[in-house]
Amino acid sequence: MTGVITMAYLFSAVMFILSLSGLSSQETAQRGNLYGMTGMIVAIAATIASAAVGNYVVVAVAMGIGAVVGIFLAIRVEMTAMPQLVAMLHSFVGLAAVLIGWGGYLAPPEGQTHAMHIIHNVEVYIGIFIGAITLTGSILAFGKLQGMISGRPLTLPGRHWLNLIALIATIVLGVMFVPQHYSESATLYLAIMTMIALLVGIHLVAAIGGADMPVVVSMLNSYSGWAASATGFMLGNDLLIVTGALVGSSGAILSYIMCKGMNRSFISVIAGGFGSDGGAPADDDEGPQGDPTPTNHEEVAAELAQASSVIIVPGFGMAVAHAQMAVSEMTQKLRKQGIEVRFGIHPVAGRLPGHMNVLLAEANVPYDIVMEMDEINEDFPETDVVLVIGANDTVNPDAVERPNSPIAGMPVLEVWKSKRCVVLKRSMGSGYAGVANPLFVKENSRMLFGDAKDSVQEIIKHLP
Ligand code: NDP
Repeated sequence: MTGVITMAYLFSAVMFILSLSGLSSQETAQRGNLYGMTGMIVAIAATIASAAVGNYVVVAVAMGIGAVVGIFLAIRVEMTAMPQLVAMLHSFVGLAAVLIGWGGYLAPPEGQTHAMHIIHNVEVYIGIFIGAITLTGSILAFGKLQGMISGRPLTLPGRHWLNLIALIATIVLGVMFVPQHYSESATLYLAIMTMIALLVGIHLVAAIGGADMPVVVSMLNSYSGWAASATGFMLGNDLLIVTGALVGSSGAILSYIMCKGMNRSFISVIAGGFGSDGGAPADDDEGPQGDPTPTNHEEVAAELAQASSVIIVPGFGMAVAHAQMAVSEMTQKLRKQGIEVRFGIHPVAGRLPGHMNVLLAEANVPYDIVMEMDEINEDFPETDVVLVIGANDTVNPDAVERPNSPIAGMPVLEVWKSKRCVVLKRSMGSGYAGVANPLFVKENSRMLFGDAKDSVQEIIKHLP
């Protein structure tokens, strides 16, 4: 039986690798999901069939509750609330690592040699440490993304020193804990370390400012992978070790790519509080200097009809308005008239990496006209009309023009360089980062106020 289970685990691990590779492009994403689901079903079946599982009633009840909660969330959650959900799910992985770690300490496997006991304690200690950071960090990220906690960075004086002291204390406690068997002092060391790690999780994420949250979500994804991997070591489950390592490393790679995309330092993300040095506080009330020029649907439709090249830049507002279908219809109509229409996608547009790509794919926008920021940024000066649909921070000129802006240094889609830039949004309000956007008052910008879906539908009506 053990051989069959090992084979099943191996099969699942291969499925997970294929799944990750499938998810790397839109054309293969559906297949990637199928691989992932197959791998997970086989993994669950093999684990239940293994000798490690005895109490089937408890497993069935736990799986039943998990399935009901999962189905309920999957049906109810809006695409716009995805990052919060992901952050919440990461916290479960962290909680599981903490609980399994404590379980492993309180009821260690029997018949261990001294060396095995040391290794077991190291696994328990590291598992609880990473799990506790992931747990509280993810809960805080959930609160920030949900708007329950302010998105402003909490910059305690000497915060890097606090992190360093916490790290040194953790190492010292670990050295004292690892050689011990169950005892009052060992329990105390483990409990203090758990508290420190829970506080570090809060501190690391509290120090991150609004616009930098996407990287944190992806970093927590990575932490949750390492927490799962540590849990795999504690439970002696090879598949969990491999899967955790896959999630951990892919999350770390994604965070690195996003850091590069946002011009942030990777090391400072791990240390917390990056992007919050020097910049002016978010929600600054300086506001753009000048007045916006409003436009109307008819005028925009006429400008589009006369254009030979159009770039559509979607953002979070397109998701809120559920405007993707209307945008797709407008795109088809313009393309039928021989107008070149392309999409410019910022790496952190929306509230989830790949958020816009998913929405556009759902609306059947052809993949080959959906371009990444780097592929299209140089084309704006040659473009007749740019439609910014519910995007704000990702098209803010201050990121490149005002060095003390909270989003300074973040690469943005340089839409203001186009011949005409029309911004579709409901008000002059700011975006996620809470900073004012001078794009709205630029000379070649026009504001089309209103819900993005309504506006696009009205434009379609006026197109020839
Ligand atoms: P922003 O959040 O900067 O702006 C969205 C804009 O959409 C708002 O200014 C809002 O203006 C407008 N809007 C909202 N509802 C509607 C509607 N119904 N119709 C029309 N417009 C609407 O969006 P971006 O996509 O440009 O930037 C994403 C931001 O989110 C970045 O700061 C990024 O760092 C952050 N973020 C990204 C994550 C990711 O992984 N992608 C994760 C977490 C955060 P108004 O209210 O006036 O309509």
